[in-house]
Amino acid sequence: MNNPASNQINRRARVVEAYSNRGVARHEDGQLAAFHFPRRLERPLPGDWIELSDNGSLEVVEERRNTFGRGDPRGRFRPVAANLDLALIIIAAQPSPSPDLIHRYLAACLIREIEPVVVVNKSDLDEPDQPPFTELDGLVELGYRVVRVRCKPEPDIDALAALLGQGTSLLAGQSGVGKSSLVNALIPDYDQQTGELSRVTGKGTHTTTSATLCALPAGGWLLDTPGVWEYGLWVMPRNELARGFPEFVPFADHCRFRDCSHNHEPGCAVRAAAESGELADFRYQAWLRLLNEQVRLSR
Ligand code: GDP
Ligand code: ZN
Repeated sequence: MNNPASNQINRRARVVEAYSNRGVARHEDGQLAAFHFPRRLERPLPGDWIELSDNGSLEVVEERRNTFGRGDPRGRFRPVAANLDLALIIIAAQPSPSPDLIHRYLAACLIREIEPVVVVNKSDLDEPDQPPFTELDGLVELGYRVVRVRCKPEPDIDALAALLGQGTSLLAGQSGVGKSSLVNALIPDYDQQTGELSRVTGKGTHTTTSATLCALPAGGWLLDTPGVWEYGLWVMPRNELARGFPEFVPFADHCRFRDCSHNHEPGCAVRAAAESGELADFRYQAWLRLLNEQVRLSR
C-alpha cells in the first residue's frame, strides 16, 4: 500500500498576486486559486511558477529565471516579480519623469537580465524639450527600443501590442502615465480578470499593493506593477551597476585600470570616448549620476 501522503498530486500554477503569507495563483487551465504559504518556503512572487497541493497549500516554488525589483529606502533590493522576458518602462509627457528615471529602469532591467523597452504613452501630447525626451533618439541609436503609443483621444497601441509575444512582460512606470489605460486597451477582458481575482480573494474591489499577473488575449502574460512616484535602485557593487551600461564595454576594455570607475581615473577610455563623441555623453553623464547616487544610498 502506498502511503496516502505520497499519493498527493501537486498541480502547477503561476502566481498572480502575492502578499506576506497568502496569494492567488492561476492553474494551467485558467482557474484561479487562493493559497497560503508556510514560512519555511521562500516568499513567492507574482510570475513565479509554483506547485499547489489538492488542498491548496503551496508545496514548491520553482527556480526563477530572473526577478525584477527596486531599492527600498535603505537601499536594499526588494523583488517585485519573477520570470520576466520584457520590461515595458512607461513614460509620458505628463507627468513628466525625472531625468534619471529611465536610466535607472534601463540599468535595473539589464542587470536583472530582462529586455527593456521604453514606451512613451500619450503620444497625442507634445514631448517636452528636455531629458529624457531629448535623449530618446540617442537611446535608439545605441540599440535600445523605444515605442510611442496613446490611449487618447483614440487608442493607438499597435507598436506595443506587437512586442508582446508569448512571454511575460512587466509594465512599470510612475502613477499617472496611463498604465491602467494601457492595460485596459491591451486586455479587453481586464475587468473580468480582476473581478475573478476579487471573487477568489473575497475583496470587493481590485486595489492592490502587489504586482498582478494578467493573461493577454493572444497568449503571453502582462505583469502590471503598482504605480510609483519615483523608481530607486539598490546598493550594488560597481561591476553590477556597469552591467546597466553595456555600451561602455568596448571602451572600458581600454581603461588604464581594470577596476576603473570611469569617473576621475587617469587613462579612462570611457570618459575619453564620451568627450570625443564616440560614446553618447548623456549616457556617460547618467552613469556618473547613478554612481554618485550609489554613494548616497550606501550611507
Ligand atoms: P495610471 O495612473 O498610470 O494607471 O494612469 P491612468 O490610466 O489612470 O491615466 C492617467 C490619466 O492620463 C487619465 O486622466 C487618463 O485619461 C490619461 N491618459 C491615459 N492615456 C492617455 C493618452 O494617451 N493621452 C492623453 N492625453 N491622456 C491619457
Ligand atoms: Zn574608465
